[in-house]
Amino acid sequence: MAPVIIDGKKVAAHVKERAAERVAALKARGVEPGLAVILVGDDPASRAYVDMKERDCAQVGIRSIDVRLPADTPQAELEALVDGFNADPAVHGILVQLPLPDGLDAEAVIARIAPEKDVDGFHPVSIGRLVRGLPALHACTPAGVMELLRAYGIDPRGKRAVVVGRSVIVGKPMALLLLQADATVTVCHSKTADLRAVCREADILVAAIGRARMIDASYVKPGAVVIDVGINRTDAGLVGDVDFESVAPIASAITPVPGGVGPMTRAMLMENTVAASEEASR
Ligand code: NDP
Repeated sequence: MAPVIIDGKKVAAHVKERAAERVAALKARGVEPGLAVILVGDDPASRAYVDMKERDCAQVGIRSIDVRLPADTPQAELEALVDGFNADPAVHGILVQLPLPDGLDAEAVIARIAPEKDVDGFHPVSIGRLVRGLPALHACTPAGVMELLRAYGIDPRGKRAVVVGRSVIVGKPMALLLLQADATVTVCHSKTADLRAVCREADILVAAIGRARMIDASYVKPGAVVIDVGINRTDAGLVGDVDFESVAPIASAITPVPGGVGPMTRAMLMENTVAASEEASR
């Protein structure tokens, strides 16, 4: 049977519509959600991401405050900027585009952000709260994956979920969110022995590796749900970590690249900013 192709663009559009409605309700109460977007340096990919995030803000009705700084900005200046946004009641979310140029300490900058404005969900407090199962702003990419599963009626409860990748941005929060949704979760990485066999146990397989088309059909149990977080630029264009051609025929549902998880990450940033604005104006 043909797999369900999980349409991230469609679900993301829906999430943004929902965010726009909540923004309208906030504005009716005199609150205008504000997101500070800080870009340091001139990395073209980072600049493109930041431009897209600002476009999303405009679409949803969030005021974006753009700050573009030169690559040689001192750490103290960047942290002072964050301090200013922390103290500014018109700013509800703060996003520092990563990676930062060499010489800047990203960990220190992230830790400086007030946790209630941490719309990327990378602050140690946000991750700690996720571990404890407390309300928190969740990292946008894994939160987007959970939203896709919900939108397609895929309930992780009682399922075997395997996450390949253990980054703080994707793999670890992904595993925690799946655990919170009552899946039985295994996290794999570059030192995992017999990765193929572990992946083949998965009812839900999430690939967040950064290796073009590494997960082929030999890693996938027939009928599994396959979520491809990977974004790899190759001569053949943008491809995921999953070899879509070989995996799609045996999966029950699968995300394409592009058009799967990617659009969800941006949509969830809008949702997090709205949630932070609502929380601040309670
Ligand atoms: P990282 O490089 O931080 O992490 C990659 C993870 O994959 C690591 O845990 C690494 O293991 C593991 N890994 C690498 N090679 C192998 C291997 N051969 N076998 C098993 N595991 C392996 O990447 P990110 O988590 O930041 O991103 C992962 C992918 O997702 C990238 O393609 C990135 O572009 C994409 N991405 C997409 C987003 C979206 O919006 N769709 C958002 C963020 C990322 P170890 O820890 O042992 O090194």
